[in-house]
Amino acid sequence: MRKLFFTLIILCCLSFTSCYEQKYSTHYFDYFDTVISFDGYFASSSEFNRACEIVESTLKEYDAIFDIHDESSELAILNEEKTLAVSSALFDALNFGIKAEKATEGYCNIALGSVVTLWHEARMSKEPYLPEIEALAVAAKHTDINSVQLINGTANITDENLSLDMGAIAKGYVSDILRDRLTQEGFDNLYINMGGNVMAIGSKDGNGWAVGIQSPDNEYAIAEAVSVSDTNLITSGSYQRYFEINGKKYHHIISSDTLQPSELYTSVSVMYENGAWADALSTALFNMSIEDGERILAQFDGIGVIWITPEGEIHRYGALK
Ligand code: AMP
Ligand code: MG
Repeated sequence: MRKLFFTLIILCCLSFTSCYEQKYSTHYFDYFDTVISFDGYFASSSEFNRACEIVESTLKEYDAIFDIHDESSELAILNEEKTLAVSSALFDALNFGIKAEKATEGYCNIALGSVVTLWHEARMSKEPYLPEIEALAVAAKHTDINSVQLINGTANITDENLSLDMGAIAKGYVSDILRDRLTQEGFDNLYINMGGNVMAIGSKDGNGWAVGIQSPDNEYAIAEAVSVSDTNLITSGSYQRYFEINGKKYHHIISSDTLQPSELYTSVSVMYENGAWADALSTALFNMSIEDGERILAQFDGIGVIWITPEGEIHRYGALK
């Protein structure tokens, strides 16, 4: 009876609190080359504004580190100078990138920049074109992660033609920083979507934040809906950035085996408590067979994955089975 009484009091308190929490939303357009949405439940508009300040300042800080298409970013300067005393934020992220390359057996390789850049230039050109096979092969000779060394706060790229591209892990990495900073400030029910990279704290109304994974053949249809609570759901998709030549689509996730956009899947979504790993793995899994992927995934407890093939077949693993 006593237990029931206390349970009732706790339930009353919870509903009382949630009565005073309202939903707020906003968008950011200036960071990570994508639209970023931020939704959550807050006690007041000033609390929401306080959370927005944390979100925007963090996005700004990390975009200024990772954006290689801005020559003043820290990573662009490192690519140019090859030896640089870097911020602790970039040092830690590079350290993670090197670990991720090893754990994914090279399928997510931040040192693939010279190859990825050729595809990026081809896509961004006024008249998109296909990069020359020979140029891709030459660039591929300069993608060895062992040419990137981190010693006492200094990053050193020993191959003059190697460049780093952290696009495969940057958003997931920032998700973890955002989660830490926001929870430390007491925010406990919110959702940030960075162009297919979802980070959720709390579970909305108790049922989780609903996230749709796009259907392969219809950009307005959803192939899978996943409920996300207190975790990340990060998707690598062939429909996110691409150009078309003679009716064929060429997207932005490049296989280090073929040096071409990978054609095995239209999307791979990873649900995992660590955003940086979820992001690295979404890219890596996109580039390899399901069998190889499952072998690598065995290292990650509690992880869930959904692969969708161009034919619309769906394969599930672990927590998303
Ligand atoms: P994501 O959307 O997380 O799969 O990341 C894709 C981005 O990562 C691309 O836009 C490139 O900047 C970069 N990238 C492409 N292919 C690879 C690869 N095989 N390994 C690492 N990064 C890659
Ligand atoms: Mg990724």
